[in-house]
Amino acid sequence: MSSPLEFLRFIDENADRFIQRLGQAVAIPSISGDGTHRQDVFKMGSWLEDQLKSLGVETKQVDLGKHTMDDQELPLPPAILGRIGHDPKKTTILVYGHYDVQPASKSDGWDTEPFELVVDSETGRLIGRGSTDDKGPIMGWLNVLEAHKALGLSLPVNMRFCFEGMEESGSEGLDDLITSEAAKGKKGWFDGVDCVCIVVNLSQSDNYWLNTRTPCLTYGLRGIKYFKVTVSGPARDLHSGAFGRMVHEPMTDLVLLMSKLVAPDGTILIPGVDDMVPGPSSEETAIYDALDYSVQDVVDAVGAPITLSEDKTTLIMGRMRFPSLSLHGIEGGVRETQHEEQARFGESARRKPWIADYKHWNYEAAKKATEAVYKKSPDLTREGGSIPVTLTFAESLGVNVLLLPMGRGDDGAHSTNEKLDRSNFIEGSKLLGTYLYAVAAATE
Ligand SMILES: [Zn+2]
Repeated sequence: MSSPLEFLRFIDENADRFIQRLGQAVAIPSISGDGTHRQDVFKMGSWLEDQLKSLGVETKQVDLGKHTMDDQELPLPPAILGRIGHDPKKTTILVYGHYDVQPASKSDGWDTEPFELVVDSETGRLIGRGSTDDKGPIMGWLNVLEAHKALGLSLPVNMRFCFEGMEESGSEGLDDLITSEAAKGKKGWFDGVDCVCIVVNLSQSDNYWLNTRTPCLTYGLRGIKYFKVTVSGPARDLHSGAFGRMVHEPMTDLVLLMSKLVAPDGTILIPGVDDMVPGPSSEETAIYDALDYSVQDVVDAVGAPITLSEDKTTLIMGRMRFPSLSLHGIEGGVRETQHEEQARFGESARRKPWIADYKHWNYEAAKKATEAVYKKSPDLTREGGSIPVTLTFAESLGVNVLLLPMGRGDDGAHSTNEKLDRSNFIEGSKLLGTYLYAVAAATE
């Protein structure tokens, strides 16, 4: 499979400068979940738009309206749409990323200033908030664009871009934008899109390499539902010495209810839930068998020998294909005045599952590109969480969507000391460009 050697060389020769650009992006604290940083999110959006423009991309900022956060009405950061290339003979790829980040401060336990990119020359780590989630991956696309512009090479495909600034805060406004752009057909910015490539390490899903060794392509997401159970009883806080064994106690009832949901071995006790997912085909089982993953990887990741199975395939299917039920917290005490005891199961949020055809040319191209850059076949993975935008693109555009992770399993997005390995950034940039050539070759 061919990608111009000069492109790969350009990426290597300019690696330090590319890391500096990532540093500029990290330095803008574009925290979408903190209203006091809203102007920084806007600044980051404009910075990104300027970068795209300087690399020859036609852009448009889309106002997504306002929303309320912490009792304050705030303008939503804009979506940045972009397009480059209008050759009807070429395949058109839509790329998604997000330019906002999670909160971070040194007092959370960071070893370095989170909004100053630190290049650790010993470990090769690029440490800073947003390095892996999701500024590094976005910069990867900029690196590809810059290389082609500087070398006078035309891109092997037409490219469309959709970048948002609210991903870490529920992607407000984005679904409507995507569906309305898709509905505009020829007049919309997504006209002619043949497939979507998402290079993200998003919240809700650890869409990274499974470990620190083997690249992966992700073709499925399990989806998620949150429920809240409320049990209320007495009208006021009661002293257990004065009222214990005289009245029904909400916490006792709540613990009983929760014990009926899931068994310690992970079996879901609610009738019918486990039956909703049919068993795997032998072809699907073979994918799990082939994953570069061991029981020990799980033990290392959680820091204790507490896995639900000693069998690698059983264990990984628990994450990638079967339903799971986690209890996330329990809270006691009187909150409102309510006289009657009542239990309420309310569905407070849901995100649908998604699965893609991994035999599609989009995946084949990503596989070939991975093999060319990393000299290794990628793991085919599904993930336990959800990335809502994946399903929105798949449904509104009716095209194949690929999740192509750039980071590794130990990057620590959303956590302290978030990092992206230099090799993942630089080789990952080569991977993105090589993937574009592979798509062009596969769709000739
Ligand atoms: Zn995130």
